[in-house]
Amino acid sequence: MITRYDLPQDQIPKTWYNILPDLPEPLPTPMDETGRSMEILKQVLPSKVLEYEFSQERYPKIPEEILDRYMQIGRPTPLIRARKLEDYLGNTVKIFLKMESHTYTGSHKINSALAHVYFAKEEGANFVSTETGAGQWGAAVSLAAALFKVKAHVFMVRTSYFAKPYRRYLMQMYRADVHPSPSEFTPYGRELLEKDPNNPGSLGIAITDAVRFALENRGKYVVGSVVNSDIMFKTIAGQEAKVQMEMAGENPDYIIGVVGGGSNYAALAYPFLGDELRSGKIRRKYIASGSLEVPKMTQGVYRYDYPDSGKVLPQLKMYTIGSQFIPPPVYAGGLRYHAVAPTLSLLMNKGIVESRDYDQDTAFKWARIFSEVEGWVPAPETSHALPIIKEIADQAREEGEKKTVLVSFSGHGLLDLGNYAEVLGFK
Ligand SMILES: *Cc1c(COP(=O)(O)O)cnc(C)c1O
Repeated sequence: MITRYDLPQDQIPKTWYNILPDLPEPLPTPMDETGRSMEILKQVLPSKVLEYEFSQERYPKIPEEILDRYMQIGRPTPLIRARKLEDYLGNTVKIFLKMESHTYTGSHKINSALAHVYFAKEEGANFVSTETGAGQWGAAVSLAAALFKVKAHVFMVRTSYFAKPYRRYLMQMYRADVHPSPSEFTPYGRELLEKDPNNPGSLGIAITDAVRFALENRGKYVVGSVVNSDIMFKTIAGQEAKVQMEMAGENPDYIIGVVGGGSNYAALAYPFLGDELRSGKIRRKYIASGSLEVPKMTQGVYRYDYPDSGKVLPQLKMYTIGSQFIPPPVYAGGLRYHAVAPTLSLLMNKGIVESRDYDQDTAFKWARIFSEVEGWVPAPETSHALPIIKEIADQAREEGEKKTVLVSFSGHGLLDLGNYAEVLGFK
């Protein structure tokens, strides 16, 4: 029985999808109390990225150079039917996985990293800088920088820098400079280190470090999630999945995925949701999940907040648990960001996207079941989507009607086996 739907490379979609013109109401604008933050953004972001941030163009053309790199790093990724998981759940759901684990860096993040770095290079940037937590985004930016021949400086959350060296080695393999954050290279980092030389760091702190470093050294900063432009660059995944679901002769009833900052889920869901928003009738269910250790999806408040701890960037209206939030140290997964992308927050607020949070033990239990029955190890982040499939399967059984679920399989866990070993207690 067929389990895999491949799109030939010559049929790769040639456009991204931008949801801004299709939102049910205009997106609240960024808030800049001091008037300085927008200035900073203009200096540190590639101008084309800033232009896309506010663009109303629905289907922008993907530049040839980016399409070429997409194909080099493994696109189009396959759509996989998880028949063994279907069996395990009692055959009440058809499960389709969009395999973003099949890119060279092992997650969806390369999809936008290539675009950001390309636009920075186009403008003649000396280098690109960015932040990374578990290392997925840093690895993607490092690869994109290598492919476009630009220097990369990656500010990596200090605890991960030392505790999770393998993705750091991957970045170094691509010749990126990786710095533990808080960093000695920025005034903000130095200030934090003076107060506490053992400051563990956080994503919010690393963002401030990376932005300040770009600002002070005339580099360009690349944003890894949350913002409209980044989500749009990643929609190549959803654009491909639309064609592949047609190849499979199926139309999803549910589209699900996990949320760090929101770009992974949005990149798969938005091209499908856009069609429904324009038709005025929403038939599908959209469910996104986060981690209960960083419970922004279910306990966040919809308000203006800073995207970074150093409060350098303009405030955005989003579901947030506060920019100063530091996740508990037991938490191993990468869904640590304190807030949800503004477009996704708006859709949650309108009741169009439902949300869940799952604790690490539940997610990791499902990661193990998935590995055992399907044979492929999901990333710890990705495993937070698996309990939603179980919920849908149980409900379908009660209602006596088979459902089709499309899942963003955001990454593999082969570099996260240390986390799994610790939490699942391998000897
Ligand atoms: C970063 C990451 C996520 C979360 O992505 P966002 O775009 O920030 O929501 C999910 N899964 C994997 C494997 C990741 O690396």
